[in-house]
Amino acid sequence: MTIRVRFAPSPTGYLHVGGARTALYNWLFARHEGGELILRIEDTDRARSTEDAIRAIIDSMTWLGLDCDEGPYRQMDRLDLYAAKATGLVETGRAYLCYCEPEELEARRRAAAAAGGSPRYYRRCRALTPAEEADYIAGGRRPTTRFISRDEGETIVDDLIRGRVVFDNAELDDLIIMRPDGIPTYNFAAVVDDIEMGMTHVIRGEDHLPNTPRQMQIYEALGAEPPAFAHLSMILGADKAPLSKRHGATSIEAFRDVGYLPETMVNFLALLGWAWDDKTTLFSPADLKDRFSLDKVTRSPAVFDTAKLDWMNGHYIRQLTVAELAQRLIPFWRGAGLLPDGEIAAAELRRLEAMAAVCRERLVKLGEIVALTDFFFKDVDYDPAAVDKVLHKEGAAAALEAAAAKLAQIDDWTHDVLDTALRALADELGQKPGKVFQPIRVAISGRTVSPPLFESLEILGKETSVDRIKKARELA
Ligand code: GLU
Repeated sequence: MTIRVRFAPSPTGYLHVGGARTALYNWLFARHEGGELILRIEDTDRARSTEDAIRAIIDSMTWLGLDCDEGPYRQMDRLDLYAAKATGLVETGRAYLCYCEPEELEARRRAAAAAGGSPRYYRRCRALTPAEEADYIAGGRRPTTRFISRDEGETIVDDLIRGRVVFDNAELDDLIIMRPDGIPTYNFAAVVDDIEMGMTHVIRGEDHLPNTPRQMQIYEALGAEPPAFAHLSMILGADKAPLSKRHGATSIEAFRDVGYLPETMVNFLALLGWAWDDKTTLFSPADLKDRFSLDKVTRSPAVFDTAKLDWMNGHYIRQLTVAELAQRLIPFWRGAGLLPDGEIAAAELRRLEAMAAVCRERLVKLGEIVALTDFFFKDVDYDPAAVDKVLHKEGAAAALEAAAAKLAQIDDWTHDVLDTALRALADELGQKPGKVFQPIRVAISGRTVSPPLFESLEILGKETSVDRIKKARELA
């Protein structure tokens, strides 16, 4: 039997951490088992589904490297199928048409609640006479289709992660499976598709566990074996509340846009509920594919730890070669308007690689490259605090003047030569090296913190460096 699983997002927003983890676990399970992953877009909520969201979900999955074997299928392209299945259930006596209008139902629910009764549908239309039905139709009412839930006994979900979960059938409502406009509801469409698409396993968030007994009854009514279910625990923020917008950006695009690497996200998301052992934290996608199994997925909620995410991203950034890192940084330079689109000349690429090399150790997120390196691309914006603190210090003007003169003599413009020359200059001036280096740093970058000084001078080139030092001399 080929393992078949699906990721079935509702395209009502971006792909968030929780959805991405569901997608990843399905992908890992499929890849580990040599199975197939299907992408199914559950777009039946017409008011909230958008094309942008579909695009964002697919882009995020592509960026994470989660390739699918089939799809995207869209539920809105499959309405005939759901209609036929619903009609079939009516014909076999497992569903019925319900003509109750929303206002009537609401009034009933309120009255029942006030009397301390159950909010469930009171099942009036289960037993309509042909005459009553004809009246409703003549009155222009358009029916929903309701599933006949079992009243008695229990429905048992043998969840691969949560174990045996027992649901009392008396709690289940006659749920609406088709709306009057011919669009199915989630529980019904998901089951019809999971059957038609041959799903062997359903791996999804714990929030869907209460839907599972209803869905199991629908499988049974449709004469199909349910798949195996695995419900993943919630993801919590550091404050132990369910992860939400309150905790900051949670969409995969937002993580991408500030410069987390896809290899970080895959590794990090994998650990939100799965562990290989109690010590290993770094896993490549290939390691994960080799090792992933549902029996190592935990039941307890996972906590989203931003400090760990940052640490991991720094790790993966330092795993990249300088050339790879520069390639990954290019979109950020472009995004900030520092680098034009189009082909990059070989000399410029070497310069970008040199910047990548000097910043590699200190980058936590790729996006930080912009603030670290903007002075290589454009005129310096002097930070007034840096001017005050460093350039206005006694001796700064003299140091800058001497440095400009000395550097103007150097032809072999490499960081080693510059290092030696500027240390010698500090000696000549009878100053500590820092007293000379710090004004030069502010002169070329405008700030008191920059990438390593000699490498920065080398990247900036002789002419620009000397010009900036002369200009800063005027400010000192
Ligand atoms: N469309 C549902 C969601 O996004 C899918 C649930 C399921 O996997 O069955 O939550």
